Amino acid sequence: MAIPSHVKYLIIGAGIHGLSTSYHLAQQLKAQGKGDGRDILVVDKSGIAAGASGIACGVVRNNYFQPAMRELMAHSVGVWETDPEGYSYHPVGYMQISPESMHEDVASIARQQKDIGYESTFIEGEKDSAEYMKTLFHDWQAKGITSVLHEKRGGYANNTKAMYALATRAENEGVRILTGCTVTGFKSDSAGGAIRAVETDKGEIGCDQVVIGAGPWAKTVWDMLELPKTVTIKGADGNMHDNVPMWIYWSLQEGTLGVDPELQKTNDGKFPPVIHVDSNEPLYSDFDGSLITDQMWGIYYKPDFHFGGIQGGAAPYAIDTAPDDVAVDPYGVDSPDFVVGEDFAHMWTSALAHCQKRFEGQFEFYKNEPSGGIGSFTPDSFPVFDVFRENCYLIADSNHGYKMLGVGKLVAEELCGQQSALLEPFRFSRYAEGKLHPVSNSPFPWS
Ligand SMILES: Cc1cc2nc3c(=O)[nH]c(=O)nc-3n(C[C@H](O)[C@H](O)[C@H](O)COP(=O)(O)OP(=O)(O)OC[C@H]3O[C@@H](n4cnc5c(N)ncnc54)[C@H](O)[C@@H]3O)c2cc1C
Repeated sequence: MAIPSHVKYLIIGAGIHGLSTSYHLAQQLKAQGKGDGRDILVVDKSGIAAGASGIACGVVRNNYFQPAMRELMAHSVGVWETDPEGYSYHPVGYMQISPESMHEDVASIARQQKDIGYESTFIEGEKDSAEYMKTLFHDWQAKGITSVLHEKRGGYANNTKAMYALATRAENEGVRILTGCTVTGFKSDSAGGAIRAVETDKGEIGCDQVVIGAGPWAKTVWDMLELPKTVTIKGADGNMHDNVPMWIYWSLQEGTLGVDPELQKTNDGKFPPVIHVDSNEPLYSDFDGSLITDQMWGIYYKPDFHFGGIQGGAAPYAIDTAPDDVAVDPYGVDSPDFVVGEDFAHMWTSALAHCQKRFEGQFEFYKNEPSGGIGSFTPDSFPVFDVFRENCYLIADSNHGYKMLGVGKLVAEELCGQQSALLEPFRFSRYAEGKLHPVSNSPFPWS
């Protein structure tokens, strides 16, 4: 495709956010008689699903301690449910299985899910939790679990298939997707002012509005826009905390046990909900019985034909290299630095065996292939959805985002003039104003 000299809407990134925004924006423009998909160009330096959206586990859940996150996720789950087959979405549900230290947090999630009409069952107490789990899996054996939140909605989607489906929908609306085109800078008429053109390695493209869905490359684009490298945050104590880095990176730990996905069926022969277990119990090696950790740990897993086995992950770790020095490229499984190693395989497969007897002695079937990838996180690990430089809409999900299919729809509505109450709690100004989201006791940075 020849590059156009000017477009109304230029979207950077063909991942979940860029594609969802393009598709929904095309529909919005048409519905309002303001244009259509031909006004939109998506550019991607690699290709469709080349970033985090193409390697994500694909879990879709509502379980969040923060009310604003829960409401936003409920909206996105609704969008996934509009076309499960088309989006390759498996609505099997989701379970948060927790120790006593998280009991109260999860109880409040369950209460608030009731308030917003999000269907879930909440089981409390060690005995009842074990019984509930055994009605699903006869071999359930995790100890120290005192609550189970069973979300009846949610589940997971096949990562790349859903992205290709979105791209097809967008193209059917007239959206152009230009791959192999890297954005290298921005042009404006005044310092810090509105962007009037995007510079790419294929030439300059004039535009009225930019949308950025750059995932792990959010910091790279942020730097191109000459936005501040650090922020000031008003803490819960009312004190101002200066010089907090705007972006840090975490390495996400995921892998696949290469057994028949049918191994993980429920007692009644169905495919189970996505399982997420957090635990304070000491975790011992399923390989040699040695102690792996006596600190809190967490894992998630699901049978997944797309990955060819039982796929899942464990808590990520923060990358302590200075953000400016972290190599985001080559990304994902091609990275020499940020793919999971033997420690992850040992921990995760042992944790699977800790939870269900059927996984004991299965360590050797762990798929020894590169997996995992890094994500860029904001100062509070929650998304920033906001406009910068007057006409650049940044969608930076802080790595919560595969499940957020609906965010592109809400962004499209905002671009067409309809402000979204669901996106409002995620404005950049929350840092200076101290309007922060509550923090949970989960070992994961995004719960
Ligand atoms: C291993 C892993 C597992 C995950 N699992 C889940 C999960 O189960 N559930 C969940 O909700 N979330 C999950 N996430 C998080 C989720 O994948 C991301 O939050 C989400 O995919 C981000 O989407 P995006 O569209 O912003 O970015 P991406 O999907 O990364 O897309 C960004 C695109 O921008 C392009 N790009 C970057 N810079 C430029 C440039 N300068 N010029 C042109 N193009 C550019 C890239 O090539 C890329 O294709 C996971 C993340 C990882 C890494």
